[in-house]
Order: sequence, then structure tokens, then C-alpha cells
Amino acid sequence: MRILVTNDDGYLAQGIHTLAGAARELGDVHVVAPDREQSATSHSLTMHYPLRVRRITDDLHVVDGTPTDCVVLAVGQLLEERPDFVISGVNHGSNLGDDVLYSGTVAAAMEATMLGIPAVAVSYTGRDPDEIEAWQPVLTNLLRKMLRRDFPPETLLNVNLPAVAPGKVEGIRVTTLGRRAYIGSLTRALDPSGREYFWIGGGESKWWGGPNVDFRAVHSGFVSVTPLHLDLTNYRLLEKIGEWDLNP
Ligand code: MN
Repeated sequence: MRILVTNDDGYLAQGIHTLAGAARELGDVHVVAPDREQSATSHSLTMHYPLRVRRITDDLHVVDGTPTDCVVLAVGQLLEERPDFVISGVNHGSNLGDDVLYSGTVAAAMEATMLGIPAVAVSYTGRDPDEIEAWQPVLTNLLRKMLRRDFPPETLLNVNLPAVAPGKVEGIRVTTLGRRAYIGSLTRALDPSGREYFWIGGGESKWWGGPNVDFRAVHSGFVSVTPLHLDLTNYRLLEKIGEWDLNP
């Protein structure tokens, strides 16, 4: 089994070391990851400047681009053989509900899915990245079970680990995406020269959703596993929008 490991926090992050360690129990691991923080870059592709790749070892390359760039380069150029599986993470922070649309971690797995390669994104919902290392045996176990099955096409699995010690996990729940809203996460202020600036981030957030949403699972101490597909079509509305008579 050939496994490509990537992330969006950069190749020096604790999370990717833990994930690569877990994956090495299951197959040959090649890491191709951003050379710096690329969180919240979503599915962006670098097209307007060249990409540079630094080979650290035979099985570690770093790229001055996004997580999506890493998957594209790894599969298209850097790896001698196409990977059987792509794993992204472990992200430092949750990727739950609406946040999967901003996440570089999830986008790397989406890119693999688009290339026809089974993919899993993994995120840790706790605040301290040093806590991720203890999850390595749990991740090996979980990934082994996921790789063993016939992986569904056009689908990736979005895994979120609860902010508890691995020994305290309640179990695993297969979930749906919840909803999330941020409050006070847009700051408007003046820089030291008196010029106005804006800063997105921080603040409070609230989540909501049905009984089976990902947020509820991790807040109850469960590992959340959400199957995601990339077709955003709202099939329930096809007929209704068709009735709008949009013809001129
Ligand atoms: Mn990140």
C-alpha cells in the first residue's frame, strides 16, 4: 500500500508527524506537504507563479504552495507510482460543519478524490497540538479499518478527533455536517501608522444541527466520521428551479 500524507499546517507541524507515523504501520508513506502554514486556503491552486519543491529525504518533499498544489504535484510528478490512498492532517484544530469549505486539510483530500484516489482528512478538535501525538495508535487502527474496506468512489471521509485523551473516547460516530456561525470574528482597527486594517479570525462561534451532526459527536467525546462527496448540486431543487421559466 502506497500512502501519500499531506496537510495544511506545514511539514513541521506535530499533526503530520503523528499521521505519517500512524500510516507507516500500514504501508509505504511519502510526505508531500506545504513548507509553511496554509490553513484556510481551501481548494486553491497556485497558477500565477512557479512552484518550488524541496526534497528533504526520498520520502519527504516540501512545496511552497497550497495543500491542493501538494497533491497535484505529488500525484503528477513527484511520486514514482500513484498512491493508493491520500491522508491529510492531522489538522491543528477542528474541521466540522461549514468549516470544511474553508479547510486546506479537507481540500487536499478533495483533490485526491477528484483524481480518483481514496482519501481521508483528519483533524484534532483540541487546542494543544502536543496532545495529538498520543492519538497515533488510535489513528493506525482507524485507518487500517478504513483502508481494508472497498472505499466508496467519489467520496472522502472527514475525521475529527474529540478534545479528550485517546483513552477517554466514547467511540466512533458516523455523522452529518452541522452548521456553524462566527460572532465577532471580524476586527476593524488602526495600525501603528494610523491606517485602518481588518482581520478575520478569533471571536466566538456557535454550532447547530440535527441529532447526528459532527459537532455533537465530538462534543460528546466521540470520534466523528463524515462521508463527504463533491457534488454540490441541490437535487431536491432541480424541478422547482426548472419551473422558474428562466428562458428569455
Ligand atoms: Mn490547519
